[in-house]
Amino acid sequence: MTQYQQLPPSGDIHASRQRLRYCSQQGLLKHAISSELGGHGDDFHALLQAHLNLGRHCQDSGLILSINAHLWGSIFPLILYGTEAQKQNWLPALLAGDFIGGHAITEPQAGSDINAIETQVKQTDTGFIINGHKRFITNTPIADVLLIYAKLEGKLAAFLVKQDDTGADFSDSPNVTGCATATMGDIILKDCQIPLDRQLGKTGAGGMMIQNALELERAFIFAGIIGIMQWQLEQVIQFSRQRRVNEQHLGANQAISHKIADMKCRLETCLLWVNECARLKDSGKRISLASAQTKLFASEAFLQSSLDAVHILGTKGLMAENKMTTLVQDAMASRLFSGSSEIQKNIIAALIGTGSGFKAQVQVQVQVQDQDQ
Ligand SMILES: Cc1cc2nc3c(=O)[nH]c(=O)nc-3n(C[C@H](O)[C@H](O)[C@H](O)COP(=O)(O)OP(=O)(O)OC[C@H]3O[C@@H](n4cnc5c(N)ncnc54)[C@H](O)[C@@H]3O)c2cc1C
Repeated sequence: MTQYQQLPPSGDIHASRQRLRYCSQQGLLKHAISSELGGHGDDFHALLQAHLNLGRHCQDSGLILSINAHLWGSIFPLILYGTEAQKQNWLPALLAGDFIGGHAITEPQAGSDINAIETQVKQTDTGFIINGHKRFITNTPIADVLLIYAKLEGKLAAFLVKQDDTGADFSDSPNVTGCATATMGDIILKDCQIPLDRQLGKTGAGGMMIQNALELERAFIFAGIIGIMQWQLEQVIQFSRQRRVNEQHLGANQAISHKIADMKCRLETCLLWVNECARLKDSGKRISLASAQTKLFASEAFLQSSLDAVHILGTKGLMAENKMTTLVQDAMASRLFSGSSEIQKNIIAALIGTGSGFKAQVQVQVQVQDQDQ
């Protein structure tokens, strides 16, 4: 019996919550976190293996998205920027899966361009008042707490907002077709009141915090997805051996076997990339460039291999029960979440000293390095 054979079936938002909680019971949320903070005390390679295993057995990109939003959107920012009191207050429930988290960056008018964020925060003697609208937020409305990025005195900052805070409305629409088993929604903040101890990190550090969270998300969300790509390749190979065409197996046709060879090469290249991200993290190095390259290559590879899989299976590939068309939609979403393919190219170009984003990227890198010291 595999570790994930007892995974509760997907369905409504309650099922999403149960599935995430089940994964936490398998210890999935505690990798690459020190034992002092309640983690396994292991490294990013261990995290990578655990997520590959999940993807291969669940074949559910929505669940993988949900877990990664929870990890990189709330747990890791708390570890990186939280005060001791904030870590003690929030981490135990998030690590146990009793509390579900995520992060809210995107707004109706602010997607790729985080400088366009309009959500505003005012500080009072006793706390903060937030007004704004967030859109396409993974784990909404099931999230208990979200890290909301907003402007305080014109500078980006991050705030922990609970579902039951006065003036906070976590709603479940609109949904999108890709990664559909993850819940997604809007957050309306109307004079939302939170106490002073809910600010995470410094005022003005929001841009750098987003950059750090997305770097981790870009690299490691694809660990789970590569697990799915492994399963996808196995299905295609099996079908190519069993299906008879002109008295020989389908794979005997070079047009088919070359597609399968391409799928294998894409898969192995994705694996090399995520392993490189884990190696860099485990040796204390930054992954800004490697994670952008991983995200760009892996999301495009996932889409092309998903299209190839549908085609090789013929009309059977279009049957919903075979999951292949769902994976095409998931792959299209994967080219957009955590920064689109174009944004990854902008980052790569800037980090190697060219492109229009060069100056902006260098500024962010310097800020990130300053914070790390
Ligand atoms: C499944 C899913 C889950 C998500 N979960 C979250 C979440 O949990 N939290 C959150 O905050 N957001 C989330 N998002 C939102 C996601 O981060 C945004 O969709 C993404 O940043 C792109 O923004 P946009 O959709 O507004 O597109 P836009 O920014 O409007 O871009 C539209 C198109 O223009 C291109 N483009 C934009 N700027 C440039 C440029 N400078 N150069 C070249 N091309 C450019 C883009 O690549 C894209 O093709 C999620 C999205 C999806 C699909």
